[in-house]
Amino acid sequence: MSYVKGLKCRECERRYPKEALYVCEYCFGPLEVEYDYERLKKEVPRSKIERGPKSLWRYRDFLPIDGDPVSGLSSGFTPLLRAENLGRELGVHELYIKDDSVCHPTLSFKDRVVCVALSKAKEFGFDTTACASTGNLANSVSAQSALANFKRFIFIPADLELGKVVASLVYHPTVVAVEGNYDEVNRLCTEIAGRYRWAFVNINIRPYYAEGSKTYGFEIAEQLGWTTPKHIVVPVAGGSLITKIWKSFKEFEKMGYIDKVETKVHAAQAEGCCPVVTALREKSDIIKPVKPKTIAKSLAIGNPADGFYAVKTVRNSGGSGEGATDEEIVEAIKLLARTEGIFTETAGGVTVAVAKKLIEEGIIPKDESMVISITGNGLKTQEALEGKIGHPIKIRPSLSAFEEAFREKGVSLPRGNAPVTR
Ligand SMILES: *Cc1c(COP(=O)(O)O)cnc(C)c1O
Ligand SMILES: [Zn+2]
Repeated sequence: MSYVKGLKCRECERRYPKEALYVCEYCFGPLEVEYDYERLKKEVPRSKIERGPKSLWRYRDFLPIDGDPVSGLSSGFTPLLRAENLGRELGVHELYIKDDSVCHPTLSFKDRVVCVALSKAKEFGFDTTACASTGNLANSVSAQSALANFKRFIFIPADLELGKVVASLVYHPTVVAVEGNYDEVNRLCTEIAGRYRWAFVNINIRPYYAEGSKTYGFEIAEQLGWTTPKHIVVPVAGGSLITKIWKSFKEFEKMGYIDKVETKVHAAQAEGCCPVVTALREKSDIIKPVKPKTIAKSLAIGNPADGFYAVKTVRNSGGSGEGATDEEIVEAIKLLARTEGIFTETAGGVTVAVAKKLIEEGIIPKDESMVISITGNGLKTQEALEGKIGHPIKIRPSLSAFEEAFREKGVSLPRGNAPVTR
């Protein structure tokens, strides 16, 4: 059994039973899962989490499933790395990377939301799953639905990166490439969801799906020794992750697991698609939809479903928003790789680039702790680096050819200092 009381409208607070619902029928506000915190407080001490599995399921008391999970048994519990090299480069003292580029099974944080959504879909009795996706969600729904024996339909914009298309197709879903941007794909899927009784993970079971993102924040708090950082930089697409990281910290605070949360949450978007950052810059509550034009395709949502709440989260925390141009994204991908040995996708380029700017602008002081969110893997967005990372040096297979190639370039080879052996 779970600690879920039901669903609650985020606007008018009307309550609903825990069913496959997602909008309030009175005010059209989004529904959110509500927990019994009184009982959680009595029955779930911090030590129970610490004894749990080394996956996101160690937080299952804070997730909306009743039975056992049907996928994602090894998802989550990704590294939180102290990034000394990058920190030195950026001039900050205490920098961490939360690295979901190695989240199982599909190398992005979307595995967290999908395993919760599919487990709930099974409990509801759905036999078919689906999603509207900018790529990573497609990969995760494809893979995890294969494992959990769902029929699966994946809807993506037709211009996605090859790596993301292949990493869906291999799991044998039906992939529908829609000639349009994500917002058009999403609108189409909302119509399809009205006609076919499929579990669209990010549409009709979105309240359950979204809760999975909390585990990203739970892990950060636990891995920092049950504290939260002074700052966290979070990528924003639909705006769900950023709101759920904040919710996760606040839940742990409410439980008494951690002290009062004083984390400033900073939103990171690509300049070519930054409706949330624009609202923050203009100090407005209204999210003006935009037509995305950026290499950060995983973040290219021009009309974010949770944009309003993303803005609210940033403001309530005292954080800020900043954008990154395509060139800055590429430079940041290379910077992270060169300093920390992590190859992130374009979304990670956005957060690193934005973190760099916020430090330079003095918005993140150099002596305060900070986390940069890395949410996806660079092998999926290789197009972004085409022609921007040089080429291998091609030679014939001989020692002289090797040395000649460098002599020609005027590059002297390091002698190295390995001990001499015979
Ligand atoms: C989906 C996605 C995000 C943003 O998620 P939202 O919850 O929609 O804001 C961030 N990074 C990557 C790599 C993603 O795939
Ligand atoms: Zn309502």
